[in-house]
Formats: sequence, C-alpha cells, structure tokens
Amino acid sequence: MSEGPSLRRVRVAVEAPQHSGLTGPLDYLGPQDLTPGTLVHVTLGRRDVMGLVWDDLPEGQDLPEDGQLPESELRPVGEALDALPPLSDRWRRLLDFAAQYYQRSVGELALAVLPPQLRDLDAKQLQARLKKLDKADAAAAKAAAEIDAAVAAAAAEVADGTLADPLQRPALTAQQQAALDALAEQANRETPPPALLWGLTGSGKTEIYLRAAEAALERGQQVLVLVPEINLTPQLEARFAERFAGRSIVSLHSALTPAQRLRNWLAAHLGRAQLVLGTRLAVFASMPRLGLIVVDEEHDPSYKQQDGARYSARDLAVYRGHLEKVPVVLGSATPSLESWQHALAGRYRRVDLTERIGGGALPRVRLFDMNRLERKKGVTTALSVPLLDAMRKRLDRGEQSLVFLNRRGYAPVLHCDQCNWKSDCPHCSAHQVFHKEDRTLRCHHCGVTTRVPRACPSCGNPDIAPLGRGTERLEEQLAQALPGARVARIDADTTRLKGSLETQLAAVHEGDVDILVGTQMIAKGHDFRRITLVAAVNPDGALFSSDFRAPERLFSLLMQAGGRAGRDAAQAAASEMWIQTWYPEHALYQSLQKHDYEAFAGSQLHERMTANLPPFAHLALVRAEGRTVEAARDFLTAAQEAAQTLPLSLGLLLYPPVPMAISRVADSERFQMLIEAGNRAQLQRFLRAWLPELHALKRRQKGLTRWAVDVDPLAI
Ligand code: ADP
Ligand code: ZN
Ligand code: ZN
Repeated sequence: MSEGPSLRRVRVAVEAPQHSGLTGPLDYLGPQDLTPGTLVHVTLGRRDVMGLVWDDLPEGQDLPEDGQLPESELRPVGEALDALPPLSDRWRRLLDFAAQYYQRSVGELALAVLPPQLRDLDAKQLQARLKKLDKADAAAAKAAAEIDAAVAAAAAEVADGTLADPLQRPALTAQQQAALDALAEQANRETPPPALLWGLTGSGKTEIYLRAAEAALERGQQVLVLVPEINLTPQLEARFAERFAGRSIVSLHSALTPAQRLRNWLAAHLGRAQLVLGTRLAVFASMPRLGLIVVDEEHDPSYKQQDGARYSARDLAVYRGHLEKVPVVLGSATPSLESWQHALAGRYRRVDLTERIGGGALPRVRLFDMNRLERKKGVTTALSVPLLDAMRKRLDRGEQSLVFLNRRGYAPVLHCDQCNWKSDCPHCSAHQVFHKEDRTLRCHHCGVTTRVPRACPSCGNPDIAPLGRGTERLEEQLAQALPGARVARIDADTTRLKGSLETQLAAVHEGDVDILVGTQMIAKGHDFRRITLVAAVNPDGALFSSDFRAPERLFSLLMQAGGRAGRDAAQAAASEMWIQTWYPEHALYQSLQKHDYEAFAGSQLHERMTANLPPFAHLALVRAEGRTVEAARDFLTAAQEAAQTLPLSLGLLLYPPVPMAISRVADSERFQMLIEAGNRAQLQRFLRAWLPELHALKRRQKGLTRWAVDVDPLAI
C-alpha cells in the first residue's frame, strides 16, 4: 500500500493473546473509506494476522500518551476482505462488552468467535466462496418460495375450513396461549425485558419457542435459538425444520466441519438464514435482522465457556437482547437461581407453564431409604431388590426404564486389599478409572491411559478389585439381575464415534431397548415415549460437595431425568422416579418429591443470601497453574498483595489462595483464589485495575505456566 494523504489512523482489533497484555484495538494506517467491521490483514510483530477494523475513538478522546504511536510509526493495514459486508456496530458493541466483562482482549475474542476458515482466506478466495454461496442460495430461495406459495395457498384453504393446518401445528392449550400472549406483549415494548419461561418438562415450552419464532419470521426477522448441548441440536433442528419447511435454518456449533461452519455463519451474517440454532458460541452469530433470542434450558452449565474467554452465553444473550432491543426468552423447568432471583425482583418477566401437555402427571417420586437395606459388603446395594422388582414389572409390561448414574467407566478405582495400592494417576491427584471393556485404566482428567495390570504393581497380589461403580458396571449388573432384558448404555464412552449417539437413541425410540443406563447425557432433553421408570441409583454425592452450586445442579438434573418418564400422557400416571438415597429426609429430596422447584429455589436463595453468595454477591476466580505448588501459590499470594495496594479493592473480599479440588492435573499444580464483591460494577472496576498487575507478575513468576480469571465462575 502506498503512502499518501489518503491514509488515516485506524483502530484494528487483532488476535493478540490476552497474556501479551494487549486489551484494546491497535492503531494502523488505512484508507479513509475503510469501514469499521471490515476484516483486514495486518502485521503484528512479524506475523501476518487477521484483524477487524474497530471504531474510531470518539472526537477528542485520545489514547493515553504512552499508548499513542505517532502516525509516522504506524504500519499500514494489508488487504481488506471487503467482499464481506462489515460486522455491524451492534455486533461490535456486544464484543466490546463481552471482552470487557470477561477481561479479555477484544481482538482475541472477536476473532475467536468468527469461523476459523474466515481467518485463513484471502480476499480473492472469500469472493469465490461468496459467489458459490450466492448461487446455492438463489436455488434454495427459489425452492423455498415455491413451498411458501404452496403453504400460503393451503393456509387460505385452512381459513376456509377446507384443509387441515399445513404446518401441523397443534392447537395451543389455554396455558400456552396465555404464555404466548404474555411474550407478545413483552415483545411489543420499546426495550423488552427478558422473559423467563418456567415450564415443567413436557409442558410445551418448545411449542412456545416455535410459535414465537414464527411470529418473528413473519415480521421478516431472524431468530436465534441456543441449546446447551450439541447432542440436542439435531433433535431441535428436526422439530424446527419440520415446522418451518422452506425456511432457511442453519446450525452453529463446534462439531461442524470448518467449511460448514463458515457456510452457516455466512448465511446468518448475510441475513439469509432465518433461523440460527446453536450452542453457546452461536450467541456471537452476526445476524443483521435479529428479532428474537431463545435460550433453551437456560440453567444448563454448558452455557459457560470453560477456557479462553470464560463467557456465559446465557448472560450474553440477555445483554444482546438489551443491546438490540429484541425479546429474549429463557426457558427452563428449573431456572438458574440467578434468573429466578431476577424474576422475583421483577427484572425478568416470568411466564409459567404449570401443566404437562395432555394433562399427564409428573412421575411419582419415591425416595428409597438405603438405610433400610442390610449393610453387607458387595455390589448388590447399587440395585436394591425393590428397585429391581419395579424394573421387572416394567419389563413384563413392555415398558422402558432409565437408570441414571453420573459416573462413567466400570469402577472409579482399582484397589489391592493386601497393600492398599490404588490405581492413582501418576500425573494427577486423582484415580485412574477402570474401564473393563478395553481393559484400561484411564484418567478422566489428563487422559493418560494404561493397561490394567495383571497383579498389584506394588505387592504382586493377583486379586486387585474394582471399588465402587460406574455406568459400565451398572450395565453389567442389570444384565445379570434381569436376565432377558435388553440393556443398553449411553455415555461419553459409547458415543465417541460420530453418529453413534443418534443410532443408540434411535434404538431406544424404536423400543429395541428395555433398560437404558447412562450419565447425565440421557437425562437431558430427549423425548423418550415409553419410559415409565427413571432411577437415580447413587445421587447423594452432590449433597455434600464443597461447590455451593452442587445442590442446584443436582436438583435440576434429577428433575430433568424424572421428566424423561411419562412423557406419553397415557402412561404418565403409572410413571415413577426412584431415588436411592441414604438421606431421604434431605430438604432437596423432599422438594423434589413434591416437584416443588419453587420451594427448593426459595430455600437455596435463603441460604445464599445468608452466606453472601451469588446471586447476592458477585464472584471472580483467579486460577493459577504451575510446575510446582510454590509457583502457583506464590503467584496468587503476590497477586493478592498487589490487590491490597489498590484502593479499588476496598470493600471486596479477597480469599487466600487454596488448592483446587483436584489440585494436580497433568503434572500441573493448581491453585485458585476467590474474590467476592457486593456489586458487579465494583468487581469490574477492580479487575480492570488489577489485571495489568497480574500480567506483570506472570512475567516475574518462575514456574508459573498459566493463569486465568473467571468472572461469574460456575464451578468453585
Ligand atoms: P417441553 O419443551 O416443555 O419439554 P414440548 O414442547 O416438547 O415440551 O412438548 C411436549 C410434547 O407435547 C411434544 O411432543 C409436543 O409436540 C407436544 N405438544 C406441545 N404442545 C402441544 C399442544 N398444544 N397440543 C398437543 N401437543 C402438544
Ligand atoms: Zn498390593
Ligand atoms: Zn491424570
């Protein structure tokens, strides 16, 4: 690019890792007419990287002296990918907010959430890609127009009463109609407040999403639907595709090939995709005519990103709705306590669905008191006799049972009772899990896998035995206890291969399975029709976890698992959920037995308020990993000392560094330090002032490998 009077200072967000300490966009020289939101190649150090033209600084607002290079020292921007319409102002504001809030550099975040392929294309390649897409879309648009015309013609006949509804929409129940009216009323406001759609499993929430989406599409708008897990996207996509035949629906999640992801992203960005369905990263989809955001299962922890910028897609969806003045619907049977509290405080509008479609009852919850069993050593307690009897009854009636255990593998540890050897992971402070199928010991934290030893590696005793049980063992025990039953297992191990989950789920739907064993994977979302018994065989662990959110997660998981039973209204009355517990009197189980989320939420919120925990306080967690305990701990201690010299730390609670629950993973020692603030803004101001000090400390701390800050951490 030639020097000349037509160049000016432009600010470009570049992909600089946070740890270089850069947070804002960088200055380059670029042509006068370079529009903000345009992708450009720039040099950073010696590398050619992709950047995104950001905004000019407002008139009169200059960067601090030392941050401002004279124009003569600025480098020119490289090639601009201007065939791509610029990313909108609103999109950049969302990214600005997210980067600030989660304490990352805006360039890092912005480029991380764009499709990876986009970064690798030059202007020519992009142009070619867009041209190809134009052609494909034109053909698709033509086909869609034909379907639309047919639907419109049919709709006219429906109005005449000559034809049934071509969209196969069920007639709404009175509750659903009331819910939709409430949402429509909300959508009409100038700045619609977020709505919390609180509805039992099977109460018809998805139908509400479909209708709300339909209304938005009729207004010519785009709709964004977020789901917690990739596994659930095909199912929901199928339901949307069926309802909106002829509309353009795309999905966005990390299991797409890079080419698919680019294509779908472009469809959204160019305004051609009318519906975008995706996991948390889709909250950043560029959608020029966004008119509605739905967050399904809003309480799900998967909405929180666990590395890099640790954002909450649910929270960002709410912010995005506010920014773009579009309605946001958060749906759940067991809302997060944060959202519930917002609704109680009137910031969110609560919309309730209290009845299951078809009037089906929720499964009867039976708390099976394990103390009643004779205490003897052995594995049979995993499956109490009464529970097995209940399953046998289902078998005889041709109904299905679902057995839920949130631990995969055969047994969590192998043990030698001669010398007390345990299958510890050499690299982590955790056991290696025994997987019987392939005779391996696997660490679920660092992944290290070894063959099962023939004898105790420490004393030679050939009798090393598995302790405890995981889903693999449960499957085996069920098959033994119920001869003739077709037992299947679904967990992360059985679904490693692409497409295997779909096959396995199909088998359940087809009725080829009598008893399904699995982890939380099977507890979520799936619309199984023939399940009349759900059993949680060992859920107590979470009652005593050090993580204050564990009870909340357990309650929602069990409610969700229970919701898998009796989805067919005809069978609902005979449906049961069994909880095998040593603590049947525990308040959590008592609320669960009554299906009383409200009571549970009330008592949890009370506890949180008393203990000054979220949503009544705001937290940030700094985690550090080092080659030695000292490296990790000393870094956090120094960080704390640095914090105490900052006036902004006044009124904050800085807890001393402590080892993480699993203190060593892959030979890294891990420590964390919690910061608690009474209000969000105060915490934000403090972090902004403090983090530069941490970057500096990191450079001085020998042996420290990584550190990160997690704002609003989910797992403590
Ligand atoms: P949720 O999302 O709350 O679990 P769904 O929307 O999946 O509930 O509804 C449960 C079942 O009821 C689905 O099979 C759905 O097709 C059906 N359904 C939803 N609304 C109606 C209705 N108004 N009339 C008949 N069936 C309905
Ligand atoms: Zn031994
Ligand atoms: Zn390990």
